[in-house]
Amino acid sequence: MFLWESIAFGPIHSRRLGSSLGINISPTDVKICSFDCIYCECGWTLTKEILPSRFAPADIILQAIEDKLKRCREEQTHIDSITFSGNGESTLHPQFPEIIDRLTVLRDHYYPGTAITCLSNATQLQNEAVRQALLKIENPMLKLDAGLPSLYQLINRPTIPVNLEDTIAGLRAFHGQFIMQSMFLKGEVDGIPFDNSSGENLAAWLEDVRLLRPRKVVLYSLDRETPAKKLIKIYINDLETIAEKVRALGIEAQVYE
Ligand code: SF4
Repeated sequence: MFLWESIAFGPIHSRRLGSSLGINISPTDVKICSFDCIYCECGWTLTKEILPSRFAPADIILQAIEDKLKRCREEQTHIDSITFSGNGESTLHPQFPEIIDRLTVLRDHYYPGTAITCLSNATQLQNEAVRQALLKIENPMLKLDAGLPSLYQLINRPTIPVNLEDTIAGLRAFHGQFIMQSMFLKGEVDGIPFDNSSGENLAAWLEDVRLLRPRKVVLYSLDRETPAKKLIKIYINDLETIAEKVRALGIEAQVYE
C-alpha cells in the first residue's frame, strides 16, 4: 500500500480535481485516520491511537507548502486545486484550523484564485473549529459512503466512537455548503456480502442526500489496490444511474471512473 513521503507533493492529475497540488498534513511514515475503510489506498489503519505528538507542527508544514508553492510559481506550473489528502484524515491534525488560515494567506499570495480542497471523512464535524475551518475553503469534500448504520460500520470501520448519526448531524450543520464524496462498491467483508449501490442502503443514502442538499455529489468506485480483497467495482453505467437519482432531487452529481 501507498504512503506519501512528503508534506507537499505533485501536482498530480486527479480524476476529480484536475491539476492537484497534494498537501499531506498527516505523518509521512504512518497512516493516521479515524476510519479504517475497506478500500483505503493507504492500506489498513494499523495505528489506532491518534496522538497529537505524531503530527508535524504547523510551522514545519506551512514552510514546506510555501517552498512548494514558490517553486511551482517559478516553474509556471498550473494548479487547479491545493488539496488536503495524504496519509489519513487531515482534520485530525491538532492545528488544522490554523493551517487552513495560514494556507489561505499563502494561496492568496502565490496562487490567487486557486481552490483549496479538503478530502475529509467527516468524523470531526462536531468540533466547531474544524467545521468553521472547512467552511472557509472552496471545496470541503465530505465523505458519506453509506445510508445504513450497519454499512457505515462495515465499509468505513471507525476507529473512534463515531457513528452514522453523528456524521449526518455534522453534515447538517453545513447547510448544504459542501461537496459530498461517496464511494460505491460491493463484495464481501469478513464473510458478510454487501452492496452499497442498491436496495435499502441506496434508498437511505438518497434520503440523506435529499435532506442534506450538498452543493454537489461526487460518485466514484474502486480505482486502486484495496486492503480488503473481495471487493468489486461498481461500473460507470450503474454509477450514472445513481447520479440520475441525485439529479432528480435537483442536486448536481458527477461520476468519476
Ligand atoms: S477516510 Fe480516507 S484515509 Fe481514512 S481510511 Fe478511509 S479512505 Fe483511508
